Amino acid sequence: MNEIVEKLLINGGVTLEGHFLLTSGLHSGLYFEKFKILENPRITSLLCSKIAFHYAAIQIDKVIGPTTGGIILAYEIAKQIDALTGIAEEEEKGKRVIKRGSGVKKGEKILVVDDVLTTGGSLKATIDAVLASDGVIVGVAVLIDRSVKPLNIDYPFYAVYQKSVENYEPDECPLCKQNILLTRRGGKKKIKN
Ligand SMILES: [Zn+2]
Repeated sequence: MNEIVEKLLINGGVTLEGHFLLTSGLHSGLYFEKFKILENPRITSLLCSKIAFHYAAIQIDKVIGPTTGGIILAYEIAKQIDALTGIAEEEEKGKRVIKRGSGVKKGEKILVVDDVLTTGGSLKATIDAVLASDGVIVGVAVLIDRSVKPLNIDYPFYAVYQKSVENYEPDECPLCKQNILLTRRGGKKKIKN
């Protein structure tokens, strides 16, 4: 399955090679342009069905995703499994809250989803937001897991596509040393200088 999705991501212009500045501030030679998936509802729906199928046997009351891409995925998965959906919004750096709609109620069974897992920052902040409302996390899922270190969580985890991609600190980046033009992708951070 990983190979089929890999072909889909390459042919669809999702997988990009070059020299990229990630939202985390790290550099990488590979970037997944998730909005090439999210702009296509049919492809998004197809990939979300993998997550829905994976968790088909367990009860899920609500699917929660972090802004921005996570909202689209949470909505689509919730639609497929007939659950509700909610948004984990960033309140301050590294802290998220679920405040719109009915939020998360005590004891509700929650599936946490996100688009691309790199360092796990937004996923962990979303998990914390669910736990702060006494929700019960029954699973975590992402479309693309590009993390190097496994996500250190105690919940069932599923990735539709997995590929470990090396990230570099700017001063240790081999691509910088080769003077390859650095491209900013995603996120809100600006390149200094
Ligand atoms: Zn670099």
